[in-house]
Amino acid sequence: MKNQEKIFSQDDKNYLPVFNRYKIVLERGEGAYLYDINGKRYTDFLAGIAVNVLGYNYAPLVNAISKQAAKVIHVSNLYYTEPQAAAAEKLVKLSGLDRAFFGNSGAEANEGAIKIARKYAHQFDAEKSEIITAWQSFHGRTLATLTATGQPKYHKGFEPLPAGFDYVNYNDIDELAGKISDKTCAVMLETIQGEGGVYPPKNDYLKKVRELCDKHGALLILDEIQAGIGRSGKFFAYEKYGIKPDIVTLAKGLAGGVPIGAFICTEKVANAFHAGDHGTTFGGNPLACAAANVILDTVPNEKFLAHVEEVGNYFKNKLVELQQKHSAQISEVRGEGLILGLQLSNSKKSGVEIVNECMKRGAIINCTVGTVLRFIPPLIITNEHVDEVTRILDEVLSE
Ligand SMILES: *Cc1c(COP(=O)(O)O)cnc(C)c1O
Repeated sequence: MKNQEKIFSQDDKNYLPVFNRYKIVLERGEGAYLYDINGKRYTDFLAGIAVNVLGYNYAPLVNAISKQAAKVIHVSNLYYTEPQAAAAEKLVKLSGLDRAFFGNSGAEANEGAIKIARKYAHQFDAEKSEIITAWQSFHGRTLATLTATGQPKYHKGFEPLPAGFDYVNYNDIDELAGKISDKTCAVMLETIQGEGGVYPPKNDYLKKVRELCDKHGALLILDEIQAGIGRSGKFFAYEKYGIKPDIVTLAKGLAGGVPIGAFICTEKVANAFHAGDHGTTFGGNPLACAAANVILDTVPNEKFLAHVEEVGNYFKNKLVELQQKHSAQISEVRGEGLILGLQLSNSKKSGVEIVNECMKRGAIINCTVGTVLRFIPPLIITNEHVDEVTRILDEVLSE
């Protein structure tokens, strides 16, 4: 044993206790594998929560970051830099939208999207400020984004919350039709709900949401912080559903693990912001953008996305087999590409216990909302990695 116990106690004593941590100390990674400080290997199907899209120690990413660090890490947004200009151009081309802004995290990307939506609507009507989001959504931890998050447990104790947010059930178009009005500034949804339990949109839900927004002059904000960056099998998940938002937000996988966030919007929306209306010190600095450029040169390639689709289908079929075998414990398999969820019901072990048992056997998976096993692996995984993790899951569910 290296100094594992010392690290546990050092961290437990000093770090703000807001995370229930798993009792391992992770040290390094290679491809789809992580290693703890005792040298134990884990097949990683969490990817740092949908972040490490190209896996670990991916040479082009490591090289780009090292090279950029040697040149300059940060200069502030008072100056032009080549990596930022290039990354913004790529995002605009890929999204079919017109303007990109970089921040440092998902919450910040959504905060910026909410701000620009409000500013846009205020041009027409000072009372056109309501933002409708979905129950079970997750949009971040700042005051505005935790309010946008339709999970009361994240609101409790932080009141007064920012005003002007309301909620509907995801996939219930009639409820949205009853709630949306000319006072609605924006409808904000995850294209595929992640933290809430992996819920993709049903039928033509998003198309109908788009139509309702247009009818009421409300903006459509899609949060693709988790489902974007190729995870669904398309670079932007909304491409799957034949619609385009007015604003889309990204973060997690966008720079392969270097902190970054972004929102991208139409010119019409962008025009609501003028110099001084929004800003950031670190956002989109050359280091983060050099990393993002590697992701943006790799993930959107047809072959790469086809791989995500193929291995995702293979994985989903394996999960359906598991469901059939353990039908008393698993009620549903959901998801697209490499954002997949397995709904537990009356399982012998709790979700967290299953995650812990898998970890002991060398597989890192995640449980969200207590009863959904969530799989958001690096996008570079192969069928062999899927075989390994589903074999371990089968073992754990069989006990
Ligand atoms: C993770 C996540 C966020 C928040 O991102 P942070 O980087 O943790 O602030 C927002 N929306 C969605 C859909 C997410 O999955």
